[in-house]
Amino acid sequence: MSTFQAPKGTYDLIPPRSAKFLAVREAISAPLKNSGYGYIETPGFENVELFARGVGESTDIVSKEMYAFETKGGTKLALRPEGTASVLRAALEANLHKAGNLPVKLWYSGSYYRYERPQAGRYRHFSQVGAEAIGAEDPALDAELIILADQAYRTLGLREFRILLNSLGDKECRPVYRDALQGFLRELDLDEDTRRRIEINPLRVLDDKRADVQKQLVGAPMLRDYLCDACKAYHEEVRELLTAAGVAFEDDEKLVRGLDYYTRTTFEFVHDGLGSQSAVGGGGRYDGLSEMIGGPELPSVGWALGVDRTVLALEAEGIELELPASTSVFAVPLGEEARRVLFGIVTELRREGIATDFAFGGRGLKGAMKSANRSGARYTIVAGERDLGEGVVQIKNMESGEQSAVALGLVVEELRSRLSS
Ligand code: ATP
Ligand code: MG
Repeated sequence: MSTFQAPKGTYDLIPPRSAKFLAVREAISAPLKNSGYGYIETPGFENVELFARGVGESTDIVSKEMYAFETKGGTKLALRPEGTASVLRAALEANLHKAGNLPVKLWYSGSYYRYERPQAGRYRHFSQVGAEAIGAEDPALDAELIILADQAYRTLGLREFRILLNSLGDKECRPVYRDALQGFLRELDLDEDTRRRIEINPLRVLDDKRADVQKQLVGAPMLRDYLCDACKAYHEEVRELLTAAGVAFEDDEKLVRGLDYYTRTTFEFVHDGLGSQSAVGGGGRYDGLSEMIGGPELPSVGWALGVDRTVLALEAEGIELELPASTSVFAVPLGEEARRVLFGIVTELRREGIATDFAFGGRGLKGAMKSANRSGARYTIVAGERDLGEGVVQIKNMESGEQSAVALGLVVEELRSRLSS
């Protein structure tokens, strides 16, 4: 160990477990790439104001969890705590919403930072794959995104996840509900912090996990009873499209999500094997966000799935992903001359697209064969002075142990045909 360790709340992805993270990112993004979503990458930090306005001053994310700092030049920046505000900012800046047909569909993958209390499944640096569909109000778009996330999780083999679904109403009906809820909440016996929350963001009080708070919330007015006809019809359509697609979901009228920008459809993917950090991903419609950050009216919908928690979910279900062995052929030279010849063959095999590795460092046969075993290679090629003198190398089948001599000029051809069978 060196003098240094990974900072608190962070961890390193190292082989072999790191391969699962790549596979999860690939599995989540594949259905998006296949459905008209283009890849977008934005900076790891943004003007702090973007998140303050976009995510919401009163949210935990902005008020407690953000890594905000001032540059030497006096600019106030923040490490990105989430993806949506940045992606929308970038889309507006590039005028993507004017360039062609709406919606603009984008997907992203990257690191996010939140100063949280570290615990299982909750880190200060984590990664997400997300998708945003900008500039269209269409229940089929909400349904599409939920269906694609469901498809991603199913391809990974996950079974013990559930989809929670709710509607948060719109600018017509939400204020009416908000008033009614505030009236109810103000009568309860709550602490200072929560009382303050009632005035800033009363819906989030419903999300309070404490049992004594939950007990008092029985009988609280429910948004469902306040939804306007347009919101009701929209939500019903989303539900019907999901049902028609065979995607099971649960209505959860208490699902409000921690971000201020959500309107209408909101959803969360939860996994039952993860303990208290059970949300693996979430999202929803954010029709007002563009205007909140100074853009035009652009009703949009999106989600972000947490890669770290998805890997934990795979492990909780005991799912072994079928990851192709990273090495198919391993080369073991015995002596200087063999080192040059086999290194040449290794290069040739790699150019043919065959995953090949080499015993570096001039160790003895025993150590080199150990590396060959550990690499997971199906074949090892071994050559010493005598083999080269006869113009051959030995090809060893690592599973059966069988070994045969193959002429130098035919090695690549021979391995290609053996590997494809
Ligand atoms: P939670 O309720 O667990 O705090 P959240 O509502 O803050 O989650 P979102 O902002 O919706 O989470 O982010 C989407 C996903 O990103 C989460 O479902 C989760 O998988 C992942 N995520 C969020 N925060 C963290 C974190 N601190 N560490 C690891 N993953 C995280
Ligand atoms: Mg959170």
